[in-house]
Amino acid sequence: MTDVVDNDEQIKYKALLESTKAIPWKLDWATKQFTYIGPQIEELLGWTQSSWLHAGDWIDRIHAEDREKTANFCISQSEEGADHEADYRALKADGGYVWVRDVVHVVRKNGVTTELVGFIFDISERKIMEDKLIILNKKLEQLSFQDGLTSIANRRSFDQTLTTEWQHARRNQQPISLIIADIDCFKPYNDYYGHLQGDDCLVKVAHALSQAPMRVTDLVARYGGEEFVILLPNTTATAALEIAERCRNIVIAQQIEHAMSSVSDVVTVSVGVSTITPTTDTEQSLLFATADKMLYQAKKNGRNCIEYC
Ligand code: GH3
Ligand code: MG
Ligand code: MG
Repeated sequence: MTDVVDNDEQIKYKALLESTKAIPWKLDWATKQFTYIGPQIEELLGWTQSSWLHAGDWIDRIHAEDREKTANFCISQSEEGADHEADYRALKADGGYVWVRDVVHVVRKNGVTTELVGFIFDISERKIMEDKLIILNKKLEQLSFQDGLTSIANRRSFDQTLTTEWQHARRNQQPISLIIADIDCFKPYNDYYGHLQGDDCLVKVAHALSQAPMRVTDLVARYGGEEFVILLPNTTATAALEIAERCRNIVIAQQIEHAMSSVSDVVTVSVGVSTITPTTDTEQSLLFATADKMLYQAKKNGRNCIEYC
């Protein structure tokens, strides 16, 4: 009678195990033979239930990039008697793969591992979501360094790059230059043409200024409002001045009509330039402060011109 009950119970448990999404399995540790694997494995991976004989079959069906790490981890944990779980790509019979999580309970007798009992879960959906999140985070990170209107680098990006490049210049005793370009009479431009066209003008000027520097290490950023900065690592005053002149000309070349400007009939910029070869006691803020002072001079000198220090 008890046997019949036991048998009934076993059938119930087997039906239950084989109807879940998690795929159960059992492995004899001494022989490394599978003593059981749920039939669901065939639906998930395409390998028949009867093809899972030895732990070696499991290892062979792990993606090459995950194989060694996963197998070594599971074997060492099993030998130590530690329950564990591992995420890896399981190979499918058709050549594809599925991300799975293997959750393993280690059965021990007298301090010796005798059997492993585990469940395999399909986690591919979760992995796809995780991958999407990683891409999204990277994109967010990029966006946080970009100016929303013009898509060039923003002030945050400039501040960070300036700190890095300043330290580099000090270590290598190289000159570092900064150009600040400010659109002339932009308030009257906005008032006359409207804010939207003002925005459009900022985008055009930003893109034009981006064409002025030459090196990949040069950084063009929108500092704020109608003010742009160009950071030029390892650049002498003479070279910086040449680039500043190119900036001024490149903006004029856009021929953006400006009926309200006091200096020209097209949009122009005034430019301040500073060059410093930093020593240990030069303040980093001096580079910006000097270029800003020069910009102020340029405005005072009639705009649409360059002042340098
Ligand atoms: P100056 O020649 O001395 O530089 O005079 P200015 O009129 O260019 O300078 P001012 O600082 O008086 O005005 C800057 C204007 O820039 C005022 C502000 O409305 C405008 N501005 C700042 N940010 C934006 C923006 O994102 N979009 C638009 N359309 N205008 C902006
Ligand atoms: Mg201005
Ligand atoms: Mg300004």
